[in-house]
Amino acid sequence: MKEKILIIEDEKDIIKMLEYNLKKEGFRVVDARDGEDALDLASREHPDLILLDLMLPGMDGLEVCRALKKESKTGSIPVIMLTAKSQESDKVVGLELGADDYVIKPFSLRELVARIKAVLRRATEKEKPPEIFQAGDLKIDFARISVTVKDKPVELTAKEFELLKTLLKAKGRVLSRDHLLDTIWGFDHAMEIQTRTVDVHIRTLRKKLKNAAKYIITVKNYGYRFEIEE
Ligand code: CA
Repeated sequence: MKEKILIIEDEKDIIKMLEYNLKKEGFRVVDARDGEDALDLASREHPDLILLDLMLPGMDGLEVCRALKKESKTGSIPVIMLTAKSQESDKVVGLELGADDYVIKPFSLRELVARIKAVLRRATEKEKPPEIFQAGDLKIDFARISVTVKDKPVELTAKEFELLKTLLKAKGRVLSRDHLLDTIWGFDHAMEIQTRTVDVHIRTLRKKLKNAAKYIITVKNYGYRFEIEE
């Protein structure tokens, strides 16, 4: 079935242009001109993705985003924000509110479509995590929480396994130490657990993974990334 996109935008010309081009790309399209209408449509139509303009009359885009994410019916629908260059800080707030990505106006259609497809792909992957992952000598069985390298079992602690899983799920994207701390150690890290903890765990994880450690790339002064060279 074709994926349905909800466009929330008050400028008629932009709606028309998006509608025409997204339909051409094979999507179904519904649109709303203001926030209230949008919230109503989002819960009735169950779109697969929402394109949200931040500059709207009445309820602004950020309020719409907050309302969408709060509602259980619409909270999991991915949101791409359409922002103006001058809305740098709004963009950050939007991402904090749970928006998945943003595109700066004026955007190229090709870029927008690529973003839409990437966000949709990530959304489906999130729904169905792979049971088994394999790359070279490394094999991870998520259901059994087991890791093998060259068919030999690797004994990981719970935190090490979580670390590996989190990096793998974000495959290709760099995750900061702070992000990893929040995700894996939660909020109890404020006092004694420092960002160095992540480095220490990465070090032991790498040691245990032996030659499969090459998939974990260090991004200096920032964090780590899981990368599989083709
Ligand atoms: Ca607008």
